[in-house]
Amino acid sequence: MPELPEVEAVVENLRREGVRGARIRRVDVFHEKITAPQPSGLIHRARRRRIERIGRRGKNIVLGLSGGLWLRVHLGMTGNLRLVPDARFRSMYVRWNAVLDDGRGLALEDSRVLGRIHLYSKDELEGLLAKLGIEPLTPDFRAERVVELARNSRQPVKLFLMDQSRIAGLGNIYAAEALHRAGIDPRREARSISRSRLLKLSHSIETVLRDAVQSALIAYRTPGTPGEAEFFERAVYGREGEPCRVCGARIRRFAQGGRSTYCCFGCQR
Ligand SMILES: [Zn+2]
Repeated sequence: MPELPEVEAVVENLRREGVRGARIRRVDVFHEKITAPQPSGLIHRARRRRIERIGRRGKNIVLGLSGGLWLRVHLGMTGNLRLVPDARFRSMYVRWNAVLDDGRGLALEDSRVLGRIHLYSKDELEGLLAKLGIEPLTPDFRAERVVELARNSRQPVKLFLMDQSRIAGLGNIYAAEALHRAGIDPRREARSISRSRLLKLSHSIETVLRDAVQSALIAYRTPGTPGEAEFFERAVYGREGEPCRVCGARIRRFAQGGRSTYCCFGCQR
């Protein structure tokens, strides 16, 4: 599932390929679910508008259009948003497509159709994004703020990290990796963790995400890779039964909040 680093790579790639300034000639919806619960007709208001801005907030891609409208894309589990050189040729997984004035296409591919694209006014979008927590890799993300948020949470720390209303952009993979780097057991109640260890966790979140953004960018620019951060060397996630590279203990997997959690009990307490 794309988390902050993969979404950042998608956005960076779109910027690099020059999506900004392009004008949308037409919008095609190939699967009604991709715009749900908005009526699929609404998205056609993006027609004849110029793409003026492109950004990211948490795991959301936001595209600012001329005339004060915004597109918000959430990639779900299997989504990818990319520019294709000729909008007439598209893969079978393209669920939504914007044909640009120059013939290129901005294509939302999604095999499982769990992603979404919605059209909003500026106020609507701001209202939605205001529900998201602090944004890592920005000045808004301060260690003291992480300590303060954790102090008020009875959640197990892994679920605390994945709660988008507290910290935006972390999912199952990078939450597990950040906890390993910080040496914290994912089951620990967030508010029970000492201040010094929370400061370390805050630092780990930033280093894990920075490393993962770099590897996601490399993956994107390497032909034949799907754009996932497969160049990121995972310390725990997906490594059940394998030895921890730090202490040699076996990596364990268990369920937490309905998802798999990976942990080394040799170095995570
Ligand atoms: Zn270990």
